[in-house]
Amino acid sequence: MYFFKNEFIPAHDVHISPNDRGYYFGDGIYEVFRVYHGELYECDAHMDRLERTALEVKLTLPYSREQFVNILRELISRNSLTEGTVYLQITRGEASRAHPFPQTAEPVTLAYCNEVPRPLATIQHGIRAVTQPDIRWLRCDLKTLNLLPNVLAKQAALDRGVQEVILHREGIVTECSASNLMIVSQGELLTHPANNLILHGITRLVVLRIARSLSIPVREEAFTTDALLQADEAFITGTTMEITPVVEIDGRPIAGGTPGPIARQLQAEFERTFTK
Ligand code: PMP
Repeated sequence: MYFFKNEFIPAHDVHISPNDRGYYFGDGIYEVFRVYHGELYECDAHMDRLERTALEVKLTLPYSREQFVNILRELISRNSLTEGTVYLQITRGEASRAHPFPQTAEPVTLAYCNEVPRPLATIQHGIRAVTQPDIRWLRCDLKTLNLLPNVLAKQAALDRGVQEVILHREGIVTECSASNLMIVSQGELLTHPANNLILHGITRLVVLRIARSLSIPVREEAFTTDALLQADEAFITGTTMEITPVVEIDGRPIAGGTPGPIARQLQAEFERTFTK
C-alpha cells in the first residue's frame, strides 16, 4: 500500500504525471526514515530536516508535522512493517514545463514502505571504498531530489569493484554518496562540520551524541584525503547503513583491514538506541 496524493492506494494505482516537476526538474524534497520494531526511528529529527529543506527551497508542505507523522504511521500499520524504511517525497506539483514556480500547482506527496533487513554482514565485516572528487552543488545540506551526482558517484564505485565512494572537494573529505563519513585519528573522532557541503545526517547526529556520552573526543572539523588514508579507523553512517566500517580505501587497508575498536563500541551503543 502506498500513500499518494492524499490517499492510501495499491502501488499499481499510483500514476505519476509527466508534468510533475519532480520528474522534469528534480524539483522536490524527500526523507528516508528507518523503522525498527514497527516504529519510526528519530522521527522528530527527520521531520525537522524535512521542514528545514522545504523552507530553504520555498516549498510549502501540504500537511502539518502531525498529519505527516500520522500518514507514515498509518502506512507502516497498513503494510505490517516491522523492520525497514519509509520513503517520503514531496514535489512542487504538476504544471507544464517552465522554470518559474507554478502559480496554482499543489505539492504532490508520495510515501511508501520498504521491507529492508539491517545490513548485518557489512556492519560486521565492513566495506571497501574509493575516493573521488565531489562534483555536487553547494547546498548538499538540503535533502532534495536531483541525485544524479550521487548516482554517478555510487556507480563509479561499483564499476571499480568496491561498495562506496568517499567524496572530496580539492582534497577535503566531505561525505559519501548516501552516507556521512567519520574517521578515528589519535583517539579522536573526526567528521566534516554540518555546513552546506554535507547532508546533516540523522545517524551522524546520533553517533556524535553517543561518542560524547562515551567520552570519546569529537571534532567536527574538515580533514584531508591524506588524513583519511592514514586514519586508525574509518566508518560511514546512514539510516540504512547504520555504522558501517570502511576497511579499505583506494586499495589500502584501514585499521589493518578490519573494523576498528571505536567503530565496534559505537555500533554496540547504537544498537541499544533501538533495541527493546
Ligand atoms: N549524506 C548523504 C548524501 C545522504 O544521502 C545520506 C542519506 N540520507 C546521508 C548523508 C546520511 O543521512 P542519514 O543518517 O540521515 O540517513
